[in-house]
Amino acid sequence: MSNSGKVLGIIGGGQLGMMLTEAAKKFPDKISEVIVLDPTKGCPASKVGAKQIIADFKDEKAIIELATKSDILTYEIESGDSDVLKSIESKTMINPSPDTLKKIQDKLVQKTFLSENQLPVADFVEINSLDDLKQKIKKFGFPSLLKTRKDAYDGRGNFKINSHEDLILAYKQFNDQSMMLEKFIDFRMEVSVIAARNTQGEIATYPLVENIHEDNILRITIAPARVNKEIAKKAEQVAQKTMEVLKGAGVFGIEMFVTKNDQILINEIAPRVHNSGHHTLQSSKTSQFEQHIRAILGLSLGSTELLHPTIMYNILGPKNFKGEYKPVNIVPEKGVFLKMYGKKESNPKRKLGHLNVVDLDNSGNIDFLLNKLENIKKSIVIDPV
Ligand code: ATP
Ligand code: MG
Repeated sequence: MSNSGKVLGIIGGGQLGMMLTEAAKKFPDKISEVIVLDPTKGCPASKVGAKQIIADFKDEKAIIELATKSDILTYEIESGDSDVLKSIESKTMINPSPDTLKKIQDKLVQKTFLSENQLPVADFVEINSLDDLKQKIKKFGFPSLLKTRKDAYDGRGNFKINSHEDLILAYKQFNDQSMMLEKFIDFRMEVSVIAARNTQGEIATYPLVENIHEDNILRITIAPARVNKEIAKKAEQVAQKTMEVLKGAGVFGIEMFVTKNDQILINEIAPRVHNSGHHTLQSSKTSQFEQHIRAILGLSLGSTELLHPTIMYNILGPKNFKGEYKPVNIVPEKGVFLKMYGKKESNPKRKLGHLNVVDLDNSGNIDFLLNKLENIKKSIVIDPV
């Protein structure tokens, strides 16, 4: 990297920070250095050339240190303290902006913002007490979802209320946190759109993809989603409009449901590069990571064209083991791309890497790709050293 460019600071140095660091290397005269803030020594981003400040994501002093050392600041986690970021905004350019982050961090604020802008979301309501919950569930019926408003991930802030008997249990689970209630959507499919907006306001959306979760964690993304053109178009329009009203700069992951009667509902927005966009590394003209760098640098956005249908498979830590694991290798095969994140230890369900199975011949046969994945999956084993 040359000395003429800017220093990019990233809050979070996990796999997303790692792939952003790699993308930054494509712009050697724009970005001279990447520094990440991450509590884990030897975090994935540090292994691909980022400098690291070792501290908690919420460590105010460390965030200020990062901001002081950086010309542009961004993040790969949404739990950063938006008030601290706001206080340093005048000194360092931060994208997406702390205001945008704040709107997204609180699910109630986020959903209120979306519905006020005529964007489709499931019915929701604020919950302030157990009595409040008992009252409001009458309107929503069973099942409904009780959700924590903040700091949720991997579905841990969700409680499905199936009957009156669950009410107290659900409320107690999140007792000390702020909550909201949401109508349960018996969806046909979960989908998402990776969307970008640069600092000048140019917007680009990637084609709709389909997401399959297991135990509330993304397992497989299928690009493009197996829906008809009208649904894909509708979802992409919803994403486009979301980006117009949100006004943040950077890449966003917009998670949605396709209902059984082909409605699109936004589930939530991630103000960062997103796991369901990893396929773009091989499937698309511009990866989501390069797109994010372009967006926050104020460069023109890259083409979001999907060149090849692709399946992304998350490699997760196995259930019954925690600790160092043997290197993961696969037999080289055309159209199969393994990306491990260099994490030293495996933990149950920890994201250790991903696999992209790419339809280089553009046969368009997703079942073929899924079968191919089934075979390759067997050769991926996470074994203790
Ligand atoms: P993530 O899992 O993306 O880290 P999270 O913990 O904030 O996010 P959500 O995205 O709100 O949780 O929900 C996790 C999963 O729960 C969704 O992917 C979806 O499968 C299910 N879910 C969420 N809201 C609803 C709903 N209203 N109706 C039905 N299922 C829902
Ligand atoms: Mg989610």
